[in-house]
Amino acid sequence: MMPGGSMISFSGVDTCLSSLKNCQSSISTGMDIAKNVALDLVESHNDMEEVNEIERVMLEYAALSRDVSHYVQAVEDTVNQIKRDKPDVLPDLKDVVHEKINALESRDNDLELQSHEKFVLFKEQLKQMKTQFGVQSDAKENEAFEQVDEDIAVTQSQMNFICPITQEEMKKPVRNKNCGHTYEEEAILGIIQRRQQQKKKARCPKVGCNNLEVKKSDLVPDEVLKRAIDSQNKQSRLSSQ
Ligand SMILES: [Zn+2]
Repeated sequence: MMPGGSMISFSGVDTCLSSLKNCQSSISTGMDIAKNVALDLVESHNDMEEVNEIERVMLEYAALSRDVSHYVQAVEDTVNQIKRDKPDVLPDLKDVVHEKINALESRDNDLELQSHEKFVLFKEQLKQMKTQFGVQSDAKENEAFEQVDEDIAVTQSQMNFICPITQEEMKKPVRNKNCGHTYEEEAILGIIQRRQQQKKKARCPKVGCNNLEVKKSDLVPDEVLKRAIDSQNKQSRLSSQ
């Protein structure tokens, strides 16, 4: 018997949970860093084996993130259950939490890790980078590598750095998953918002595009284009010095 069991204070639990939630943002930052390292490796034509290694690291991060969220969910469920049921005899909370975690884990499927938002973005940007830098997933012959630098110069000059909305060079380009056009993030979001207020759909502002509805969820950061723009600007800064 535990008198006043219902008056138990959970403030310690809340503090722990919020530090676990902070942990999630560290995982997220870790995933961003790993992604950028992988993209740098592709850009500098490094060993693809290392890039594959980073892919495994990304999945480990995703698994860690899933474990943390299971834990947080299990503890929150337990606390809510106690608050709701106000049992006279407090059960062993550790057991209750473990039971809930086990139940959550039994539904885990490692394939799901590959649909982690950051992992999907990673794979997509990696694919873009590989295409642009002419890197095949399997090892390329050396002579092909020598050609790569020239290829980059060509692709970069062919890429369009100008936003079809602002007519200025993009700072934060986003690509439309549906029609493939890129725009300055702020500009396209502005258009979508204004059209929404008028209860109308926003069409793709690129001349000649027949995409009649652009949604915020269609837009993904175009990391490849951003890097190309940044590196061109860096080069022109260097040559003007
Ligand atoms: Zn378009």
